[in-house]
Amino acid sequence: MGDPIVFKCSGYCYTCDQNVDFIAYNDWFRDHFVCSNCGSIPRERALMQVIDTYFPNWRQAIVHESSPCGRGASNRLAKECSNYIPSQFFPEHISGTIVEGMRCENLEELSFADESIDLHITQDVLEHLFYPSKAFSEINRTLKPGGMHIFTVPIVNKNRESNLRACMKNCEIEYIMPQVYHGNPVGDGRALVTVDWGFDICWHIFNASGLFTQIIYIDDLSKGIRAEYIEVLVTFKPNKERQKSIIP
Ligand SMILES: [Zn+2]
Repeated sequence: MGDPIVFKCSGYCYTCDQNVDFIAYNDWFRDHFVCSNCGSIPRERALMQVIDTYFPNWRQAIVHESSPCGRGASNRLAKECSNYIPSQFFPEHISGTIVEGMRCENLEELSFADESIDLHITQDVLEHLFYPSKAFSEINRTLKPGGMHIFTVPIVNKNRESNLRACMKNCEIEYIMPQVYHGNPVGDGRALVTVDWGFDICWHIFNASGLFTQIIYIDDLSKGIRAEYIEVLVTFKPNKERQKSIIP
């Protein structure tokens, strides 16, 4: 006998591009409201919907995804985008090298050339970096004009200011708050949370890169998108010809 179903509905799943049932066996929908066909969770479906809406020609674009999870939007991008570049971060290797068949990229020090990427994707990665400002700056450097960084990150602080949980001091981790870990597809399987982000993440991104960011909140059961911390963020690098507004 399995766990009782807490909630069930039908709809269109963005990550497997099918009409499916969405089923929750636990009332923490963020991790447990899954697609019966592809196993995706709500934030992955929300991310794919935002990619499709804001960057509809993603199939032809040069797309870099840092730390794909082997599920959901990562799988759809890998399947349908011909220039999809997945990477993982291996701390003991430099960016651009191949480790166990996977490209290593450190978001804080990318090996990509300036203005070479159309779309950077990260899913729940930016709460684990020690120097997120470096990552925002590197994403800006490597994006083509007109490119975007589309990502999820748990905005657990909401309207409160972002705060550090841990930082690097003299090459050692200094814990400012009790240690919290999330799952990690590589290494020892866990990733330390370094920042509790608030909505002011947009200000931090602007400060580091000069780029504007939108926070998109979707609550749509017909797409299986409902959960806590479901925001998708889009950082835009303007087109060169669009840098002056025509709006009077
Ligand atoms: Zn699905």
